[in-house]
Amino acid sequence: MAQKFRALLDLCRRRGFLYQSAEIYGGLRGAYDYGPLGVELKKNILNSWWRRHVYYRDDVVGLDTSIITPHPVLKASGHVDEFTDLLVDCNLTKERFRPDKAPEIKLDKHGNIPIIAPDKTTALEWKEILEKQIIPNVKMSVEGNRILIYAKEVNLPDADGQNGSITFEMWNEQPSVQLAYHGYVEPNTNSPFLTDSRPFNLMFKTFLDPIDPIERVIQTTLDNAEQSKATIRQTVDDQLKPSTVFLRPETAQGVFVNFEQIVRTMKKTPPFGIAQVGKSFRNEIRLEHGIFRTPEFEQMELEYFVSPWEATHYFEYWRKERYNWWLEHACHPENFRQRDHTSKEMAHYATGCTDVEYLFPWGWGEIEGVAHRGGYDLAQHIKNTGANFEITDANPSLSERVQKAGNGNVDLIPTEKPAKYIPNVIESSCGLNRAMLAYLCDAFHEVDEGNGKPPRTVLRLDPRLAPIKCAVMPLVGKPELNSLSEKVAKTLRRKGWYTVVESQKLKIGKRYYRHDEIGTPWCVTVDYQSLEDDTVTIRDRDTGNQERVHWKEVNHVIDGKLMKGEADNLLV
Ligand code: ATP
Repeated sequence: MAQKFRALLDLCRRRGFLYQSAEIYGGLRGAYDYGPLGVELKKNILNSWWRRHVYYRDDVVGLDTSIITPHPVLKASGHVDEFTDLLVDCNLTKERFRPDKAPEIKLDKHGNIPIIAPDKTTALEWKEILEKQIIPNVKMSVEGNRILIYAKEVNLPDADGQNGSITFEMWNEQPSVQLAYHGYVEPNTNSPFLTDSRPFNLMFKTFLDPIDPIERVIQTTLDNAEQSKATIRQTVDDQLKPSTVFLRPETAQGVFVNFEQIVRTMKKTPPFGIAQVGKSFRNEIRLEHGIFRTPEFEQMELEYFVSPWEATHYFEYWRKERYNWWLEHACHPENFRQRDHTSKEMAHYATGCTDVEYLFPWGWGEIEGVAHRGGYDLAQHIKNTGANFEITDANPSLSERVQKAGNGNVDLIPTEKPAKYIPNVIESSCGLNRAMLAYLCDAFHEVDEGNGKPPRTVLRLDPRLAPIKCAVMPLVGKPELNSLSEKVAKTLRRKGWYTVVESQKLKIGKRYYRHDEIGTPWCVTVDYQSLEDDTVTIRDRDTGNQERVHWKEVNHVIDGKLMKGEADNLLV
């Protein structure tokens, strides 16, 4: 599995999907640039999302808000105080990680703890650190890059991660040492030698001020040199606060603060939604799996505003709708699933939350969260600004509550309805980069042709997502076919499809395979017969089948194939 993922990342680098950012300067950890094919794939996913949620409906409008967000907005939303992950350091390896994503301890068949170092030399260095600094006299042995720590007893923690312990065996009958075990170890090495967990705010803070904040910090510190550290910290924070801004950690707050403007200017009343796609930033404790977790990423978010009495109904509706969107583009729908959050995982104000997950090569990973957020978001901004986010029901005497009947159908039940209410929010928050990674993994197929050669790669991307829709190929060494090839390409380009003409001196089969590898769904071949009767062939990536059509028909045929998936969607 890991090998397949490496092969996919290698393909992405070789063929222009993804590059390490600033590679000629040694690269920047966790930062990626999207190459010519990557940018198309990402744009096509986003376009599919936007078409489906904005253009195909009349109850959702778009918005594009500022990335730089003032402190009060994120203070009101709770991000300044609560947008934290727990952070743990490993005392042995110095790795930093999130305990909620870390694995449980692995024991060998005798109940001892194997710690896996990257190599033999590091294993010996770590042995010394363990002996001298972490647990002197602990019984252990080293074999190659593996340190085996002898354990007398490992007690698993209770449901809250408390009261677990590891008791170690010691040399020379020294009294045994016990360490707390909270149910996780450092993910790369299985090391249980960890610091306590502490919260870490994930937001990138910066300052909208021409004066260098560091200068202010230095000056304030010097001016308050006799004060305690806590007082200096408070004074510095107070000084910097007016110019403090954040790179938004999600796009949603920009939507909430514009709620009243949209209601007023677009004449919207619930139920209606606001869609936004854009960059978000999180100073993640651990960057992992290529573009799966990066500090800078794009989100496609929909905030759907509903009356409190319709919220449960619309939560169910969007759970279903969003899951269907994922499945419609998938080759292997069985690798996508929905997972409901437990009450412990949910924010205190949320009533329901479901993740869409994809089975990545390293296991299930979240690609989207759909949440019933109640009235929390708008209420917080009302509380802090006095904004008028209340909706006045134009017709309060007509009261209907949408409710699921016992038989699973939706009933409209007459009920009391207040004339004014603060809308509830159903949110769908989806990572565009993660979507791209999930669909690349889903599309990646290795095909063994049975000719003794290594398997070749075919990216079976949904044609709507494929970066290049069509490659036009004149037969090799026949310049008289070039002008017809260009004409065909021109008609396809005018449809807005990324089309290339491939006239290199490569056998046609090899050119087909090169396009299969990057997911191009159709190759159009211009051959001798084309000169006689104006026909060309269209080859299908997945079946290898070819159909011969008049060259002027190519764009209609491909349009029909592309629209098939879309037309099906419209019937949902
Ligand atoms: P995780 O538990 O993986 O950190 P999360 O629950 O914090 O994710 P949300 O806040 O629900 O994520 O964000 C919504 C979506 O944004 C996620 O489902 C994911 O697709 C995407 N996302 C979140 N953080 C990142 C990141 N650091 N890099 C790439 N995509 C991300």
